[in-house]
Amino acid sequence: MPFICENVECRAVLARGQVRSTHEDERWYFYCPDCKARNELKNIGIPGGPVELIQPERSDLPHKVIATARPLEDGKYAAQLRVQRALSMKGVYAAEEHWEQLGVFLDAQEAVAHAKSKAADLLERKA
Ligand SMILES: [Zn+2]
Repeated sequence: MPFICENVECRAVLARGQVRSTHEDERWYFYCPDCKARNELKNIGIPGGPVELIQPERSDLPHKVIATARPLEDGKYAAQLRVQRALSMKGVYAAEEHWEQLGVFLDAQEAVAHAKSKAADLLERKA
């Protein structure tokens, strides 16, 4: 099993030989060589035996929310939302959910605010 960088914007897949694990504050980590994010590891080796590191499965997977307002022809704005979710099991890429039009608003800021509040609902519900 390779290690996968948990930084959603990176998601580098790293062969074990590519990463150097470090022991800090009683825990194990590796630093992603691409984005330098610190990723946590777990030692599953027997006490006193050799260290055996795995990447723990995360329930709180990182996600990224992109809320935007798309200008419409009539001068209004459509709220749009994209949610990127990292997948620890299925592999490399973040899953992406996409909403084209969550509602139409008179100004762009309102549209973005609406998209963001939708995102918050969504992430809370699935957590
Ligand atoms: Zn990375």
